[in-house]
Amino acid sequence: MSIRNIAIIAHVDHGKTTLVDQLLRQSGTFRDNQQVVERVMDSNDLEKERGITILAKPTSVDWVDDAGVHTRINIIDTPGHADFGGEVERILSMVDGVVLLVDAAEGPLPQTKFVTSKALALGLKPIVLINKVDRSDGRPEEVHIEAFDLFAALGATDEQLDFPCIFASARQGWAAEDLNAPDARDNGLKPLFAKIISHFPEPAALHDGSENEPFAMLVTTIESDPYLGRILTGKIEKGTVKTNMNVQVLRMEGGVVERGRISKVLAFRGIQRIPVEEASAGDIIAIAGLTQGTVADTICDASVTEPLKALPIDPPTLSITV
Ligand code: GDP
Repeated sequence: MSIRNIAIIAHVDHGKTTLVDQLLRQSGTFRDNQQVVERVMDSNDLEKERGITILAKPTSVDWVDDAGVHTRINIIDTPGHADFGGEVERILSMVDGVVLLVDAAEGPLPQTKFVTSKALALGLKPIVLINKVDRSDGRPEEVHIEAFDLFAALGATDEQLDFPCIFASARQGWAAEDLNAPDARDNGLKPLFAKIISHFPEPAALHDGSENEPFAMLVTTIESDPYLGRILTGKIEKGTVKTNMNVQVLRMEGGVVERGRISKVLAFRGIQRIPVEEASAGDIIAIAGLTQGTVADTICDASVTEPLKALPIDPPTLSITV
């Protein structure tokens, strides 16, 4: 199975939750016995209210295309605000592509500029998704040009400026590359799934041999769970991690700060986090069982001597699961 790790950047109310909901429904990630009880990212609202750092919990969507090819798309929510400077960079360093979602009437708004500029600076290829094209006051073509102008103003490369543009109504559940095509509204979100898979690369770890190296993962976010204790989330850069495995925590300029056993490996499926026996390079997972590891640390096999390179971080933030 292939993987795509992506981030969605959107101004609040431009329709990110509605879109992710629809991606989950149309991918069949929710099986018959599961229901989308609450909307996907709404649990974050409480965190926002409480002023706690917004969790970058991935939503994972499994897509099988017409040829039967299976892809896991891990979608990371990015805080859309400059206040989360260091966090935004850490989150974006896990992904291989970004979808900039823009309201067809409002166009790109200043609050998403910061995150967009970080994504472009990290060399990520964007897809622009112009949402709410069903709005009577929508002006999709103009907004397309505004997105181009924004990227140009932010110093995008030629390759980034050559971005695909997808038009969508997340509420109605469809997306199309050509808004004027007679069948534009007839294919559900399939054109968006196809574009995410064709335009964004799979994680380098899946084809550069990293999978066969000793396990190493860079911690991106930390939370405290009432039952599992400290939960460290990040992307596996190398090798395979297994439940009950003994690992060490390496810190930049700190050496080995902890040796311990992984009590749980948690993978993301839909909006849930479920225990799995093992996970491999390229995937984004969470680990429980360690007590000292924190953001920007490397969790790895005892044979690893060098920590993975972390982006500079702001004062560490502690996120709390609610
Ligand atoms: P978020 O803040 O980006 O997660 O935005 P939501 O998904 O919560 O959507 C904000 C509002 O826009 C809600 O009232 C949605 O029903 C509405 N909305 C989302 N997608 C569309 C769309 O494609 N067309 C229209 N007309 N409204 C939409």
